[in-house]
Amino acid sequence: MHQDDEIQYMDEIHDQLHKEAGVDYTKPIIRNASVPVLYEEALKYEKGTALTSTGALMTSSGELTGRSPKDKRVVDEETSTKDIWWGPVNIKLTEQAFMINRERAVDYLNTRTRLYVFDGYAGWDPKYRIKVRVVCARAYHALFMRNMLIRPTDAELENFGSPDFTIYNAGQFPANRYTTGMTSQTSVSLNFKKREMVILGTEYAGEMKKGIFTVMHYLMPKQGVLSLHSSANEGPNGDVSLFFGLSGTGKTTLSADPNRFLIGDDEHCWSNDGVFNIEGGCYAKTIDLSVEKEPEIFNAIKFGSVVENVGFDRNTRVVDYSDTSLTENTRCAYPIEYIPNAKLPCLGGHPKNIILLTCDAFGVLPPVSKLSPSQAMYHFISGYTAKVAGTEAGVTEPQATFSTCFGAPFLVWHPVKYATMLAEKMSHHKADAWLINTGWNGGAYGVGKRISLKYSRAIIDAIHSGELAKVEYVNYPTFNLQIPTSCPGVPEEVLNPAKSWLGDKESFDKTIAKLGNLFVDHFNTYKDKASPDVINAGPVV
Ligand code: ATP
Ligand code: MN
Repeated sequence: MHQDDEIQYMDEIHDQLHKEAGVDYTKPIIRNASVPVLYEEALKYEKGTALTSTGALMTSSGELTGRSPKDKRVVDEETSTKDIWWGPVNIKLTEQAFMINRERAVDYLNTRTRLYVFDGYAGWDPKYRIKVRVVCARAYHALFMRNMLIRPTDAELENFGSPDFTIYNAGQFPANRYTTGMTSQTSVSLNFKKREMVILGTEYAGEMKKGIFTVMHYLMPKQGVLSLHSSANEGPNGDVSLFFGLSGTGKTTLSADPNRFLIGDDEHCWSNDGVFNIEGGCYAKTIDLSVEKEPEIFNAIKFGSVVENVGFDRNTRVVDYSDTSLTENTRCAYPIEYIPNAKLPCLGGHPKNIILLTCDAFGVLPPVSKLSPSQAMYHFISGYTAKVAGTEAGVTEPQATFSTCFGAPFLVWHPVKYATMLAEKMSHHKADAWLINTGWNGGAYGVGKRISLKYSRAIIDAIHSGELAKVEYVNYPTFNLQIPTSCPGVPEEVLNPAKSWLGDKESFDKTIAKLGNLFVDHFNTYKDKASPDVINAGPVV
């Protein structure tokens, strides 16, 4: 093997980057390098990088170990300005300020001794896929996106041409806080006209993945395709399930199911032909990960995978998944084929079951309820989950979070556009909808405990086998949900939070009224745009 074999199509990339971005990089550019090459690069040049005992690459994302939604900006320009849901999610940036950030990123990249390019696709359906180029200065970032994007074949790479979207990741270098529109040294900015994204001042790799997701959230609905913050899997008979939910509610965990084929764990699209995964890999939380509870994910952490910000034994390099000293958001990125029953290519038919996941730390939402179409819309628009006490100073009781469409930070159009498309598709394809609480049971955080993964899996199995559709249902007051009185593999009292509640009836009534009111208050924002039956599908307090 010649040393230079790692450096592919260097002249072409140099020319393109020079013409398109003003990157005047005189040293070799490392394009679509293999896993071993990226490992060697990372281990040699990047601080905080090591090998784990199972062969994964352990990396540090530096100071920031999660996304920085407050530092996201979208360029206000004439081709897209009328389409965008401007506000706290999509904060305006001028074209000039974007160019200042871009110049800063490009200048920084030009000073590096190593520069990496990864070219890949977003979207498994060839009809809708986009070509994405990542330009970055860390092998860690290149390997992360190698895992998360769809890896092109040699022939596809050779004929790649110009990308549809380019990420300039200069995350090691800060934004200038005095640039108009900056509020910190971190900046993640998107420009739909130039079809570019610039990252400064954060090395958290998840920004790139969710940045491309945001791009798809803009481009796909323009073509009548619905983008979804959901996981997806398929049963042996070809029935597809979608699992919506905010961070930590179980999209990745519950979609990795030994009895079903994994289509994807986080980002999908629903077109007239069915669903397709946007990504070529998964990005799993690794906090308290164990081989017993989550064998598929545990065993995916091997050679080629990237583990971020975990603790480990200095000697044996065995990862300690219980170590949260750097962050609770420890993560691992691996190619989707590392899950044994992944469905390749990652495409499926029209969904039969739509599962809305929530992690209710108040302990009052039932482990499972069957939703009417209006209720499904109500809960989709609400996007409820809860954060538990203890992770932030001063937080002593559960905090409700509402994030519309179960993914407000990634929406580009007004939420109603996504909700309307979902309602139409669900009704057209006669999909059933379910609400599953993977959060607290027996009481709120502090008294009750999180429902066991075993029960959540049993509920999902019963949905898929059709058994849950056959049992008896009763009305669950306040939220007016239909809950089953029995479910194979789940104790009956667990199914009704009013029965599993360990405290007195008064405290239960108070807690459910409190959560109900939070729902009602939140929904007021959408009242003028929602139909009466959807508004009436909410809790009655
Ligand atoms: P993100 O959008 O951040 O990727 P996610 O929806 O994919 O989030 P998961 O990565 O699946 O969320 O996280 C769920 C976490 O909760 C996992 O760490 C899992 O082990 C834990 N967990 C505990 N009990 C349950 C349960 N009953 N159901 C699902 N997950 C559970
Ligand atoms: Mn996930």
